[in-house]
Amino acid sequence: MTRRLPVYLLLDCSESMAGPAIEAVSTGVNTLINQLRGNPLALETVYMSVITFSREARQVLPLTELIGFQPPKLTVRPGTALGGALRLLIDCLNREVVKTTEYSKGDYKPLVFILTDGQPTDNWRESADKIRSRKDTKIANIYAIGCGPDVDSEVLYRITDIVLMMPDLTPDTVKKLFIWLTASIQTASVKLTTKIGEEIINTSDLPKDVLEIASKFAPRREGMPRQLFLHSRCVRNRLPYLMRYQLIEEYQKYIPVASHRLEVSEEGDADLLPPINSSLIVGCPPCPYCENPGVLVCSCGALFCDGGSTTGGVICPTCNVQIQTITEEGSFDIKHIQG
Ligand SMILES: [Zn+2]
Ligand SMILES: [Zn+2]
Repeated sequence: MTRRLPVYLLLDCSESMAGPAIEAVSTGVNTLINQLRGNPLALETVYMSVITFSREARQVLPLTELIGFQPPKLTVRPGTALGGALRLLIDCLNREVVKTTEYSKGDYKPLVFILTDGQPTDNWRESADKIRSRKDTKIANIYAIGCGPDVDSEVLYRITDIVLMMPDLTPDTVKKLFIWLTASIQTASVKLTTKIGEEIINTSDLPKDVLEIASKFAPRREGMPRQLFLHSRCVRNRLPYLMRYQLIEEYQKYIPVASHRLEVSEEGDADLLPPINSSLIVGCPPCPYCENPGVLVCSCGALFCDGGSTTGGVICPTCNVQIQTITEEGSFDIKHIQG
């Protein structure tokens, strides 16, 4: 029996990945698979699995040989259940990876790549420590890749010794990341089968303009997060979307960056964090469906897009209550979520 090289991709599908980033990750996974399929050694040894996580973690693809690999559809949802993803990873490693016994050689030590915004919203420490404590028994070679401007490298260093940072999260940087990943997995499959060297993945050949090794001693960033996400719905078609804001440190206010269509939204999605005061927010991005330039807040707490006429008679797409008059004076609290 061939010894397999199991490769697990843990993909963060929370708000911070919304829009072009998640599409670039999808394309990246596709390209990765196609490239590896073209490499006879990789084709024979590499088996892939994909675990996605947002509010919950899911193994969207069990460990599969490259030939049968169907790239999964990635959907952005709120929350970053890193703890859930790590627990699931441990489960999968226990269940899917063939252990070496007295009589036969098992699979090669799995490679795990975690792509995350590094802002967990669940209880992650216990699972991180579980993975750490299993280090001696060689559970896996784990590489954590922090994506975006708000990554807490301390979180990732609690999971593994190899933490990379990709502060600029754009389609271009994601593309370069996946080119590096592809090359690394190919090299790993050669090294394993020919037994050259110990370091399975070489972090000295990182695409330096996009990826760097995270500093272990980076001071913890205090204060307001650099990004803010608000959920809203289109008043015309009732579909959910996400408004992305960026902190202007000088003024301690958030300004709109973009809005992204969401495929799914559930009740309570906006309740994962305490509300933010509207006085910290300057303006809003236009609705991605109808391009309405404004946003209104219903008394139910939900946000929806607005065309600017405040004559009343608007029906809130979330609670279906007709709103007669809308006053936007003073400051008020808005429910928001952390990606
Ligand atoms: Zn709209
Ligand atoms: Zn409402």
